[in-house]
This record gives sequence, C-alpha cells and structure tokens, in this order.
Amino acid sequence: MGFIKEGEKCIFETEAAWSDAKGNKMLCLETGDWRTSRPVVIQKKCNACGICVSFCPPQCMVDDGDYYKANLKFCKGCGVCATECPKKAITMEPEGGFSE
Ligand code: SF4
Ligand code: SF4
Repeated sequence: MGFIKEGEKCIFETEAAWSDAKGNKMLCLETGDWRTSRPVVIQKKCNACGICVSFCPPQCMVDDGDYYKANLKFCKGCGVCATECPKKAITMEPEGGFSE
C-alpha cells in the first residue's frame, strides 16, 4: 500500500476495521467527531518524509503534494504524528479554535 493522496479514500473507508467474509464493512469508525485536538502541519518545516504516515494508527495522514496533512474524518487527535515527526512540523491545536 502506497501513501494516500489527497482526495483518495482512507483505508478505513475502503476496508473498515472489521469486515465479513464477503468484504462487507461491519464497522467503520469516523473518530473525527469526538476529537478534542487536531494536528496542524507547519508546511515550511515538513520535508514530506512520510514518517507520520507510518506511525498514524488509523493511517489517515494524506499526501497533499508538497507536504502531509490529516484526513480529519478519521483523525482521532492522538498526537502520535506530532510526537514522531523528526522535523517538529506538526502541532496539536485545540478543536475549539476551529470554526468547522
Ligand atoms: S513526519 Fe513531519 S516532516 Fe515527515 S512528512 Fe510527516 S509532517 Fe512532514
Ligand atoms: S493525531 Fe493521531 S490519528 Fe490524527 S493524524 Fe496524527 S497520528 Fe493520525
């Protein structure tokens, strides 16, 4: 599996956490609804190494061309990406600061 491109479906949208023998999705968690903070990528610091993609538990970091950003439909705000980013290019910001 390659890195997910902007606009492509997250693995949870295509395979889900649990599926039956016919491939029907039985559970697909859209954890973005209860996230309390979100990862914000500082674009000028990101060198597109993709390490955040490897560590993100739901595999929701997507390739946005020159840098990576979270698919907020599935990002649960755990902060693992921010902790593991070698360039310190990700900050976790409280959800209350965003309008949508
Ligand atoms: S780990 Fe950091 S530097 Fe690497 S792609 Fe992710 S945000 Fe960019
Ligand atoms: S905060 Fe957690 S779930 Fe969201 S993109 Fe980072 S590692 Fe993935």
